[in-house]
Amino acid sequence: MNPKKHKTHDETDKNRERPLISIQAAEKILNEFPCELTIENVTLLAAQNRILAQDMTSPLAIPEFDKSAMDGYAYISDDASPAYKIIETIAAGTPPRLKVTPGHCAKIMTGAMLPAGADRVVKRECTHEENGSMKIIAEDKNRNIRQKGEDIRVGQLVLAKGTRLQAAQIALLAQLGLANVPTARPPRVGIITTGSELVEPGNPLGPGQIYNSNTYSLAAQINACGAKPMTMGRIADDLEPTTALITACLCQCEVLIISGGVSAGDFDFVPTAMKKAGVTLHFEKIAVQPGMPTVFGGKGSKIIFGLPGNPVSTFVIFEVFIKPLIMRLMGHNFQPLIMPATLKSDYRRSQAGRSVFVPLSVQNGQATIVAYHGSAHLHALNQADALLLVPAEQISIPAGSTVHVRFI
Ligand code: AMP
Ligand code: MG
Repeated sequence: MNPKKHKTHDETDKNRERPLISIQAAEKILNEFPCELTIENVTLLAAQNRILAQDMTSPLAIPEFDKSAMDGYAYISDDASPAYKIIETIAAGTPPRLKVTPGHCAKIMTGAMLPAGADRVVKRECTHEENGSMKIIAEDKNRNIRQKGEDIRVGQLVLAKGTRLQAAQIALLAQLGLANVPTARPPRVGIITTGSELVEPGNPLGPGQIYNSNTYSLAAQINACGAKPMTMGRIADDLEPTTALITACLCQCEVLIISGGVSAGDFDFVPTAMKKAGVTLHFEKIAVQPGMPTVFGGKGSKIIFGLPGNPVSTFVIFEVFIKPLIMRLMGHNFQPLIMPATLKSDYRRSQAGRSVFVPLSVQNGQATIVAYHGSAHLHALNQADALLLVPAEQISIPAGSTVHVRFI
C-alpha cells in the first residue's frame, strides 16, 4: 500500500494519547447509555430469541377441563362391580354425552374430557374388554385424571416481562392460545469490516492477505443475541471512505460495529472517522487484554463500537461489553453465567497492568488454561468454553485455587 495515498489522515488526532479506563468504568458507561425500546407484537413463529415486553397472565386454566391421562375406562372409584358395561367411547376433542353410573364405564382416550359421574380412569393395560363390558384384571394405583387448573390457574402470572422466548416459553404461550406476543424489536446491528489485507472466505489469497473472519464471528454473535446483523461491507484502510460508510450505515441500524483500524498503526483511521461522522466518543481505550483499543461512542440514540481487528479481541470484546448492551436494547437484563471452578494449573504472567481475560476449558468444575498464542489465535478460542478475568494487579494464581469462570 502506498502511504502517500493517505494524506487525509488527521495526524494531530492520531498522536493524541487516548485516555485509558478500567473495565468497570467502561461497563458503567455502557450500562448507563440510554436505550430506547420499540415494542411490537409478533407471531409465535417469529418470537424465538425475543424478549417479552410485558408480564403474561393466563387467560385459561390448564388443564382446560378434567381429562384422562391414559387410554382406558372412566368409572366411579368406589364402584367395585365385577364388570362395567361400556356406555360410550370418548375420543380426545369430542365431549362425552352420557353420565357414568354404578356398573358402567366409558371407554376414554388420553386427553379426552372426563364424563360426568366418573372420578377415576383405569388404564387399558389393567383391563380386559369383551362383549361391550370391561373387567379390571390388575390393580391400577393411579387415578389417571388431570384436574382442571392443576397446572395453571386463570389469571396466574406465567411469564414475566424480560423473559427470553425459547422453545419452552413459546410452547406455553401457544398452550394458552396466545397467537401474538409483545416483544422489544431487536436492534439492527451493522458490521463494517476494515482492512486492506482482507479477503472473503471462498476466494484465493494473494501475498500478504488473510481471510476476513470478524464479519462472520460478529454476525454469529449478534444472531445468537436475537438481534439482526447487517453486513455493511468491507472497506480498505482509508479515512474518507470509512467516514462516508459510517455516516451511511448509521441511517440503517441502531448499533454499528466497526472491526479493525482502531489501533496506533499508520493506517488505523476508525476513531478519527467516527468523529468525522459526528460520533461522540465516550471511551477510547480499556485496560483489558485482549481488546485494549476498543472505542465506544454515540450519535443521538445510535451506538457505535470500534473494535481491534484481532479475531480473539473482537470475539471477547463483543461477548463482554457489546452483548449486554444489545441484550438491554432487546429488553433483557443479561447476566453472564459465572460459576466457581478449580484451576488445574498455575496461572502466571510477567507483569501486572491490564485486566486479562484468559480462555479456559471447564469440565466437571475443573478449569484448564487453554494454550493461547495471543489475540489472533482463534483455534485456541475453539478449545475454550469460559473466560477467567484476572484483575489488573494480579500476576499469578496458584493451581488448586477456586476461580470464578465466565461461560461464553
Ligand atoms: P487492526 O485492528 O486493524 O490493526 O488489525 C489487527 C490484526 O487483526 C491484524 O493482524 C489484522 O490483519 C487482523 N484483522 C483485522 N481485521 C480482521 C478480520 N476482519 N478478520 C481477521 N483478521 C483481521
Ligand atoms: Mg487493520
